[in-house]
Amino acid sequence: MAIDFTLTPEQQDLRLAARDFARKLLSGVGPATRHLATPQERWEATKPIYEQVIADGWLRRILPAPIGGEGKGMVDFALIAEEFIAVDANVSLTLFAVTLGLTPLMAAGSPAQVQEHIGRFLEPSGAPLAAFAFSEPGGSANYDAPAPAEGIRTTAVLDGDEWVIDGAKKWVSSAGGWDGTGPDLLAVVCRTSTDAPPDAALSVILVPGPVAGLTVDTSLDLMGHRAHQTPTISLRGVRVPKGNILAGPGAGRDIVAGSFVPTAALVGVFALAKMRAAFEFALDFAKNERRAGAVPIIEHQAVGYALADAKGAMESVRYLAWKACHALDTGSPAAAEAALHAKIVGSETAVRVITDLMRVVGIDSYSHENPLAEILQDALVYPLFDGGNLGVRRRQLHTMLADPSYDPAATYLG
Ligand SMILES: Cc1cc2nc3c(=O)[nH]c(=O)nc-3n(C[C@H](O)[C@H](O)[C@H](O)COP(=O)(O)OP(=O)(O)OC[C@H]3O[C@@H](n4cnc5c(N)ncnc54)[C@H](O)[C@@H]3O)c2cc1C
Repeated sequence: MAIDFTLTPEQQDLRLAARDFARKLLSGVGPATRHLATPQERWEATKPIYEQVIADGWLRRILPAPIGGEGKGMVDFALIAEEFIAVDANVSLTLFAVTLGLTPLMAAGSPAQVQEHIGRFLEPSGAPLAAFAFSEPGGSANYDAPAPAEGIRTTAVLDGDEWVIDGAKKWVSSAGGWDGTGPDLLAVVCRTSTDAPPDAALSVILVPGPVAGLTVDTSLDLMGHRAHQTPTISLRGVRVPKGNILAGPGAGRDIVAGSFVPTAALVGVFALAKMRAAFEFALDFAKNERRAGAVPIIEHQAVGYALADAKGAMESVRYLAWKACHALDTGSPAAAEAALHAKIVGSETAVRVITDLMRVVGIDSYSHENPLAEILQDALVYPLFDGGNLGVRRRQLHTMLADPSYDPAATYLG
């Protein structure tokens, strides 16, 4: 018996605890925010709920044990993410973006750097935010393109014992912090050399907040994730100690590439979660609604087949995403490819399946009286963010496939 998808008793307990918490607490995000007019008002209204997420220990549960958390790996993370995202995409993304913001520190920070910056995120109190400031106005798909192509435009220059950072960032989760002075920790991807080749020009520098020189220019009003914060920020003469650079100047490209591998697997899980939420609603609707006909609509073959197709697609994404998470946990050489497939297939399947389920429910799916419209609004970002499927993720797969050392069997024999 070489393959086993059975969860351990601990994992089953973790999943049930996450489901229970999400249903009791995260279900309150919509009612607390939907009526509010501006992105900043909606974001601020999530803070008390996020504080309960922290107080209940969910950040500690996903941060890995080696840096002081209780997380046991990506499969466990996936179980929590599915339960949380199925109920709410906003506060859940705020939580998961903290792990993205801390990933450069966890992956490339020295023990002293980890010790200096991680403590805030292990405490079960407050509303700590970390952010990964990668994306910029004008596009980031070609982030490692050499000058004079645009790539990353934010710069950091040494002035004595300090880095001086100048530039702008856009779309970065939680980058404004709760009050516009920045998150507790901002990992800034920047150019520390204008003439070095791409693999030596980029760096990641830690900016603890609040910091002088960081301003929020706009709070983007998103189509989905309506209560999550993705602002445009400016960094003007932001000064941090020389020692805040991770793994030295020029390590940025590898840090960025590594940071966006586990997130790809997670986006597959997010996609699964939103399909599940849509499927559960549509199935219940089909079993209980006659729409003035003689029988519940599930008795119509077209409806039953559509639901069956949706369930099959959803389950196929589950096992693709779990496979990617397991490959990451076991250090498989195929982990990066598996994660990319989970992201691309998962995200595009979710958009199709949720739309198909809206056709099952019919016109009532088109108002916010029921959850499908918001589920679609949230899920539409999955092919677009975390590296768009066209500009970033398929290009990464293309590069892998074209490499002479590519082993097509690694994902199925590894
Ligand atoms: C809710 C939300 C949260 C986010 N959180 C964060 C965060 O925490 N941190 C962060 O840094 N970013 C974040 N983002 C931004 C996100 O990760 C984007 O995926 C990222 O900015 C890249 O966008 P893009 O792929 O569309 O690139 P762009 O550079 O904007 O490219 C746009 C399009 O141009 C085309 N294109 C460009 N270059 C090429 C090429 N070489 N080959 C082929 N086609 C090309 C493609 O069609 C591509 O889709 C977030 C976004 C959202 C909506």
